Amino acid sequence: MQAPTTSFYDWQQRFATEQACLDAIVAQRWPEGFRCPHCGHDHGWLYAPRHRYECARCYRQTYITSGTAFHGSRVPLTKWFWSLYLISADKGGISALRLSKIIGVQWRTAYKMLRSLRAAMAERDSLYRLTELVEVDDAYIGANKTGKAGRGGGRIPVLVAIEKTEEGRPGFVAIEALDSLAKAQIVDFAQRRLQPDAVCHTDAFPSLSGLAVQATHIAKITPPEEADQWLPWVHIVIANLKRFLLGTFHGAVRAHRLQEYIDEFVYRFNRRYWEEQIPNRLLALCVGASGSALCGTGA
Ligand SMILES: [Zn+2]
Repeated sequence: MQAPTTSFYDWQQRFATEQACLDAIVAQRWPEGFRCPHCGHDHGWLYAPRHRYECARCYRQTYITSGTAFHGSRVPLTKWFWSLYLISADKGGISALRLSKIIGVQWRTAYKMLRSLRAAMAERDSLYRLTELVEVDDAYIGANKTGKAGRGGGRIPVLVAIEKTEEGRPGFVAIEALDSLAKAQIVDFAQRRLQPDAVCHTDAFPSLSGLAVQATHIAKITPPEEADQWLPWVHIVIANLKRFLLGTFHGAVRAHRLQEYIDEFVYRFNRRYWEEQIPNRLLALCVGASGSALCGTGA
């Protein structure tokens, strides 16, 4: 994995104070200068100690962090900014326990921060629908580490879809933890995550025929030694996902938290060719995360 072009030391130096972080949010939010979100007027007065603008026309006040992932948090912005670097900079991400020790907050606070960052990641990636050739397969995540033998055994079913480009390389991925592998769940996944022009390759597991509701479905029963030829990339992604969950969370993943860890994995995976930009992209995403600017950030 390429190292980010900005080192953690440089990032800390750049965002060493609350004011530096506020300035970065202002620059991201209003690149051409303050614009009142209430009336659209382009002039306001900055009340620096209160971290807010007052509009020169309608006199309404706007907090610099309002509408961002950081709004309403008592955690200093410096700790937020360092956290979003740490979750971005390593393909293993960072656990709440480790983050809590590095930035000096309680575990629960660190967990809530990471959850906010993962929610911004998930919202961004949910806008993308997979297209053209897509490999789809199921996997199971949980205590039993014997792989997918028997399809189940008390573990959590996960559906993995990955584009295969014309050059045979992996494209974007979409992964969701499901309540079950019932056909209705597959149909719901297909309608939200696939383009109508997608052509899905699967291993002919019966429920996967639900993909046909949205896309073309080609099922093929392959002997085990040929499975990696028919579905090469989806199996690699499943292995990488399991390695990430095992390495960062030691495999101790609670069912209700699995999707947020998956969202983090997917966000980094889908940006693996521009890893060095991830901290800045995630910052842009956090500043625009709950607004309509989300689509325009390219984050
Ligand atoms: Zn105004």
